[in-house]
Amino acid sequence: MSRQHRMGRREFMIASAGAVAAGLGPACAASIQEIEQAADKVGPLPRRKLGGTGREVTALVGSATWATDAVEAGIRCGINFWHKADEWDRGSVPQAILKNRDAHYCQVCVDRVGGNHETGVLDEEAHYQLVKRLARDTGLRYFDDMQFHFGYHSVAEVKSNRAFIRAFERLKKEGLVRHLCHSQHSYNGNSKVPGGQSALEILTAVVADGVYEHAQFFYSYGEGEAMNQFLALARRKGFGTIAMKTTRGAGRMQQDREFMKDFPPGTTPYHALARWLTTRTQLDAAVIEINNLRQFVDTYSGAGKAMRAADERAIEQMRAYANREVCRLCNECMAHCKEGVPIADILRYERYARDYGEGYRARQLYAQLDKQADACLACGTCLPHCPQGLAIPDKLAGAHQILG
Ligand code: SF4
Ligand code: SF4
Repeated sequence: MSRQHRMGRREFMIASAGAVAAGLGPACAASIQEIEQAADKVGPLPRRKLGGTGREVTALVGSATWATDAVEAGIRCGINFWHKADEWDRGSVPQAILKNRDAHYCQVCVDRVGGNHETGVLDEEAHYQLVKRLARDTGLRYFDDMQFHFGYHSVAEVKSNRAFIRAFERLKKEGLVRHLCHSQHSYNGNSKVPGGQSALEILTAVVADGVYEHAQFFYSYGEGEAMNQFLALARRKGFGTIAMKTTRGAGRMQQDREFMKDFPPGTTPYHALARWLTTRTQLDAAVIEINNLRQFVDTYSGAGKAMRAADERAIEQMRAYANREVCRLCNECMAHCKEGVPIADILRYERYARDYGEGYRARQLYAQLDKQADACLACGTCLPHCPQGLAIPDKLAGAHQILG
């Protein structure tokens, strides 16, 4: 691979020392040589335009939530957009990014305050103060992309509540942020969000509003025509698109011996997914949650490469498996549950545990829910409303066993 994307050995030693000092040693389990070998196997990642701003980002972006060795390998492969960069602190932020700060787009995720993503509010001053503090605490000095995490509850809120945008404008004047973006979850049928609407309805309104530059949203194999139409609209309007929650059960598939017995040889679920996301969709970029260096190589080596026959078969098999087994987080069932069971949140946390290997985080989030899966009476009212025909009460019971 080209040396231009690599950091020097000394820089890496400094970064590693920082990671160890910060207690991150176990996460950075690989040696420098193993990281360099991993980066060589993946090679330089292709870049794509992000919306209409002229910025180019790698077709698969990186995340500060990754293990340190995977981040280091990603930097060497040219990853230049870092999701959740605010998760780093002065001890863990990669030295290679600090030393070549302008070559990286670092994103800060900002949540509602005074509650969670359903009950919290937008607060200009709180968002402003938070980003100012994080820019200092991470050592990054500024963030390239300020992301409204979880996004708006409804189209009406997009139009009437400008607090987040005002906070961004103040920070931009001070040189602390540069680009405005949001991630968008669905709130239709959510009993805690009266008038909540779907991610697609809200994303479409945000594009029309014309203030935000790009968005992150759930996207994986098996999306419907409405999502593809949104991607086409976004491209026409110069609005950037980055897919998240892309694996849709790939983690549990790999652990399912029966499923893997018939899996096409010559590819893997994560590798096929990377090829598919970066060559067969209208996305600008995507992030794939990976756990370690080995998974980074397996997955990111597929970025921008054409689908082979084995990958085509793999994606078909994965789509069928996911449609049978994995909630697509569409919220369509939620309005029909009189008990107000937060079905999509519960099945999202189940994903974290089963597919991302993040059992601890999943259980923490689950413990914070007002209602858990054991509130389900198995009445079956929601069943006809699931486009996948999932056995929702059974899924909830399974999730409760893992998370409860
Ligand atoms: S089966 Fe459970 S989740 Fe579905 S509507 Fe009944 S109580 Fe709600
Ligand atoms: S259970 Fe079905 S309807 Fe409910 S969020 Fe998941 S996929 Fe959508």
